Amino acid sequence: MAPPESVVVVGGGICGLAAAYRLAGTGRRVTLLEGSDQLGGLGTFFPSRQGWVERFYHCVMPTDDDLLALLGELGLRETIRWRPTTMGMVVDGRHHPFNSAADLLRFSPLRPLDRVRFGAVSVLLRRLGRHRDLDNTRTEDWLRGLYGDAAWDTLLAPLFGAKFGHAFPDVPALYVWQRLGRERNVATRGYPAGGYKSIIDGLLAALVAAGVTVRTSTPVTALSVAADRVRVELPGGERIEADRAVSTLPLPQLRRLADAPLLARLPSALVAYQGVVNALFFLRRPLAGHYWTPVVRSGTDFDGVVEMSALAGVEPYGGRHLAYAMRYADRDSPLFTEDDATVAARWTDQLCTLYSGLGLSATDVDEVRVFRAPFVEPVYPLGYLDQRPPVTVAGTPLLLATTAHVYPEVTSWNSSVRLANHVAATIGADITGGATSRRTAAAIRADGEPSP
Ligand SMILES: Cc1cc2nc3c(=O)[nH]c(=O)nc-3n(C[C@H](O)[C@H](O)[C@H](O)COP(=O)(O)OP(=O)(O)OC[C@H]3O[C@@H](n4cnc5c(N)ncnc54)[C@H](O)[C@@H]3O)c2cc1C
Repeated sequence: MAPPESVVVVGGGICGLAAAYRLAGTGRRVTLLEGSDQLGGLGTFFPSRQGWVERFYHCVMPTDDDLLALLGELGLRETIRWRPTTMGMVVDGRHHPFNSAADLLRFSPLRPLDRVRFGAVSVLLRRLGRHRDLDNTRTEDWLRGLYGDAAWDTLLAPLFGAKFGHAFPDVPALYVWQRLGRERNVATRGYPAGGYKSIIDGLLAALVAAGVTVRTSTPVTALSVAADRVRVELPGGERIEADRAVSTLPLPQLRRLADAPLLARLPSALVAYQGVVNALFFLRRPLAGHYWTPVVRSGTDFDGVVEMSALAGVEPYGGRHLAYAMRYADRDSPLFTEDDATVAARWTDQLCTLYSGLGLSATDVDEVRVFRAPFVEPVYPLGYLDQRPPVTVAGTPLLLATTAHVYPEVTSWNSSVRLANHVAATIGADITGGATSRRTAAAIRADGEPSP
């Protein structure tokens, strides 16, 4: 009898974990290799008082069907606590609630006529985008035309542009359209009781039970392929050979590991990536209670605040309130390379100034932690649907499952799980399980790529 097919999954973020989970139990020998000492990737956490806190703010949306289906299979779906949340907006240092038609009508950064136009277009936006080639339309061209100059300059460019920096106006409007679809029920968000660690722990337990070998602190140092074999090199001269491999690493990181023949077959780095600098403020008092507050022209380095305890409560944080302040930035930028203590001190001052009207002062700040990640948001070029690399690397047994593949979906745990389902199905895993199987089947076009 032929030995079972072996598969190596590189990267233990949600995409690698979900792919390994899908491949487990199919009779294949699956090995998952994670370079850091923790599973979870961008969703990882650090010990804080009695519990664990995510380095980067994360929440679940009610539209996250594929993630919710996976959680259902793990017996974790009911652990998601759903809460109505609100949004604020700070423009030129002034705070505005931004949730209802009444809020919009009072929104002084826009003139009254622009407020009405903003509301009307927002209601119709998803419909206005249908049947348009938004993948080849610059975001600025589409939104400036619909909303007008004032709304674009004052609100939309800062709001959506925060993630992409100066490249934002050139990002395809399809991304924005898709994002609005994910967030259409903006008021309700979910957070797992036990935090994101409970999801990672659940996945790990399921993998171990299914016989998957999971290795942390095992960075892949080199990758090479022959027609029907993959060779993975590990520290200390260790080598693993397998029939197939799935790489979940951002493409620039994978290219650094590939030998020359593989490099020639890999997609060239089509997308640039934005990183993120992210500070956590453990506070003795709440801020304004809004889950998300974009900050525009207000003298801060960060351009948004997520008040996590408005969603998760204060219990996960030892009774303290938790606010994340974030700035998406290039990994070579001065901010990204600045030391943690300097960022923490300056951003604390800025946060206290920003919320001084609510009485926030330095004595309310109990603890500050700074985390950064170099590869977070792919900056998609126009026409990316046709340039998006296939998940299969032609002529090799290597598959790619990266955040550059989820477009036009928003990068999220949901889109990573969806992609993992697709890649596992491409290898031959039988994806069963309610919404997942239906969505995955629908997502796979005749050419075997996820549909937009
Ligand atoms: C600030 C911020 C906020 C976010 N908010 C949300 C949110 O609210 N909701 C949501 O759903 N998503 C959110 N996301 C997005 C989400 O975290 C990502 O889309 C998702 O985690 C990507 O998963 P991944 O497995 O593709 O990549 P990653 O999580 O990046 O995983 C890649 C893994 O590969 C490992 N690795 C790297 N090099 C090697 C190597 N040589 N060998 C072995 N392993 C290696 C890394 O250590 C990492 O664990 C947010 C992200 C950030 C940064």
